[in-house]
Amino acid sequence: MTSLPIPKITTIIYGQLRQVGEKADERIITNISIDSRTLVDAESCLFFALVGERHNGHDYIGELYDKGVRCFVVSEYPVDDLKYQDACFIVVENTLHAMQRLAAFIRSEFQFPVLAITGSNGKTIVKEWLFELLLSQLKIARSPKSYNSQVGVPLSIWNMAGDFDFGILEAGISKTGEMSRLAKMVEPEIGIITNIGDAHQENFSSLEEKLDEKLQLFEGSQLLIYRKDQPLVSKIVENKFVQTATQLFSWTTKEADADCVIKQEKQKQGTNLLFHLNGKEQKITIPFSDEASIENACHCLALIISKNWLNESVIDAFPKLQSVAMRLELKQGINNSILINDYYNSDINSLEIALQFLGQQTNSSGKRKTVILSDFKQSGLQPEKLYAEVNRLLKLNRIGRLIGIGQVIKNHQLLFDLEAVFYDDTQDFINDFKEAAFKEEAILIKGGREFRFERLASALQKKYHQTQLEINLNTLVENLNLYREQLRPTTKIMIMVKAFSYGSGTIEIARTLEYQRVDYLAVAVADEGIELRQAGIETPIIVMNPEEHSFEAMIEYRLEPNIYSLRVYQQFYKVARSSAVRNYPVHIKVETGMSRLGFMDSAELAEMADEIQQEGILRVQSVFSHLAASDGPEHDEFTKLQYERFLTLSETVTSKQKHKVVLHLLNSAGIERFPDFQLDMVRLGIGLYGVPASERFLVRPIARWVSTISQVKFVEPGETVGYSRMGKVEHPKKIAVVPVGYADGYSRRFSNGGASMWVNGSVVPVIGNVCMDMTMIDVTGVDVEEGDFVELMGEHIQLKQLAEWAGTIPYEILTGISQRVRRIYSQE
Ligand SMILES: *Cc1c(COP(=O)(O)O)cnc(C)c1O
Repeated sequence: MTSLPIPKITTIIYGQLRQVGEKADERIITNISIDSRTLVDAESCLFFALVGERHNGHDYIGELYDKGVRCFVVSEYPVDDLKYQDACFIVVENTLHAMQRLAAFIRSEFQFPVLAITGSNGKTIVKEWLFELLLSQLKIARSPKSYNSQVGVPLSIWNMAGDFDFGILEAGISKTGEMSRLAKMVEPEIGIITNIGDAHQENFSSLEEKLDEKLQLFEGSQLLIYRKDQPLVSKIVENKFVQTATQLFSWTTKEADADCVIKQEKQKQGTNLLFHLNGKEQKITIPFSDEASIENACHCLALIISKNWLNESVIDAFPKLQSVAMRLELKQGINNSILINDYYNSDINSLEIALQFLGQQTNSSGKRKTVILSDFKQSGLQPEKLYAEVNRLLKLNRIGRLIGIGQVIKNHQLLFDLEAVFYDDTQDFINDFKEAAFKEEAILIKGGREFRFERLASALQKKYHQTQLEINLNTLVENLNLYREQLRPTTKIMIMVKAFSYGSGTIEIARTLEYQRVDYLAVAVADEGIELRQAGIETPIIVMNPEEHSFEAMIEYRLEPNIYSLRVYQQFYKVARSSAVRNYPVHIKVETGMSRLGFMDSAELAEMADEIQQEGILRVQSVFSHLAASDGPEHDEFTKLQYERFLTLSETVTSKQKHKVVLHLLNSAGIERFPDFQLDMVRLGIGLYGVPASERFLVRPIARWVSTISQVKFVEPGETVGYSRMGKVEHPKKIAVVPVGYADGYSRRFSNGGASMWVNGSVVPVIGNVCMDMTMIDVTGVDVEEGDFVELMGEHIQLKQLAEWAGTIPYEILTGISQRVRRIYSQE
């Protein structure tokens, strides 16, 4: 843990200290923050007011001050500084550079070597796997999740200081010029370059340029590991580092001249990796057979060999590696609880991340927070210090109850001063478990792997049938950012969360979006909006199809109507007047070519707009229209016409208002294809959930629809499968039953080969008619057992493909997945 006094930090970052009260600079800083939303320990926090394209950290100083923060690094000294009694400001030219300078200083004090990993893919996995593999011989500090950016790296470095043997950091860049800044902070002794793909390619003139830039990180390193059979990587690495002090270590799986030649043997489950070490043939086994996992494991292996760290415990650890993708899982728990399962290792950084996620998901829902925690394995801290720190974090995050499991945490129970119970081990807890003890709360389950917390998770989890829709909240945020990149920083974003957020769930999605500071949410009917408000969502909400019976409730819950006709206007006006509201925000929809809801007549519009302005009961917040064919190039002329019509019609309204009225027209495909028409706001829908208008736009689906096989059986020739005996069997067949049917939204059109599913690496067709709750698939020749995982839609069976098979569009598939299919959310 780093702790530094303010005057020292001021010197390190070349700042100028200005304080409001006396002695404001006497605070000792133990944590740094850049985000007012994830603040924990305000008292000893130093806030860096970063200036981004969309958000300016200086805007949050007041809010942070109210939360107790007193120390700020700013590039503009606040004009209203007298408001901030006893605060101090370190004024610098550029707050990001100042934070990086501070990180470079902290890094220079590390007593252990640092490994930096860069490359297009696999950075996080290689980092996490090395941590697992070396657990038994080295105390390793590492950056949390994928903190690898200009901002993430300095935050990581701050948290990595301590008594460790080895540090691992990721470094990622998206623009030229960024790596030299990272290199100055990280100064790695050892490097791994994983691979070079074309992700983030937009800003590089060529792959060479990108690679060359990445390799700046390792100038001055002692050792660099790379893959020999990536021709471009080898060529540039070898050119750049020949005749330098950097020792190169290469590996290959091909017949090439490398320092380590690794042969692969595919097994039924997993892969053996064979290599020679000191003249002896060695073998390790990994539980994966896909190319990416093999590459990641080989990078780990190469480092371990080159450092001479291979021993029995490492060899034992390889087969136990797990895929790292989903680590924070959100599920419905018993008695209306929510459950967050954390599959990170138990260390203090990841505890902070998990507590943040818990906070974000319970945010103002009033649910009590419980944490179930095992012993920590590795921390670089003495247990007394460690558990005192855990206690502090739990209290800062307003945790109501702790359940500690394990000898060590139990022995230190006196360090905790919140409601807490302790058990010797997981079995002890399970023996004592009563369902009634968990009710209406948010439960974080976080434990080292040897505690096998999946057993207690299954006791706490609400039971459903095994078909579920997995929603990746990280992908959602990545998609959102891709759309943001298309827009001017000032353009507002409304997200369509109607129809259960296109099938992906309401509250969890809305919370994530609120956290990302989107400007508006849009629902179809008032009930959807009320549900969001009841869950504590504060973001403004517009109701697209407001119905008269709900107008009073809408006002009560601050939901803003789409006024699409004179009738709706008059009805809403009446209710607003009798509720004695003033300037209640409404949105006026005009018709430009969709022939759906909206005003057509400009005289009518003008009269209404005039009246709204005069009366002051309602306020025209925005005027909007909807494009009919923004995704179809053949209709581009019509789209332009709609835009022209919109400008004219909206003008009749805006000219009558004294304030600025927000104009918006574009949906997802519109943002992608007509950024010039973005106006003041856009309305993002399907694209956020992962369906772009064109393949070139790199959003990815956020949902994966999965199930498990209920039964496997053999069917003889002459027999049939399913209702109406449609599945004819001419040769002996193996059939698997999957518990999903048309009542789940799995279309009956998928019957008789109309669609396929993905099982254990094979794509297999549906056989017979889809039933209400079950579907049979033909798994002849595929190695399949009961309980095996099946993908109905996801990486292998694409949503678009499924929609085509059903003769419809992705929107209908997504929104048709029924509510009984449980939604599971994950976040890194
Ligand atoms: C649903 C909807 C959108 C979003 O459309 P996508 O094609 O999903 O982006 C935008 N505006 C209105 C009025 C809508 O009803």
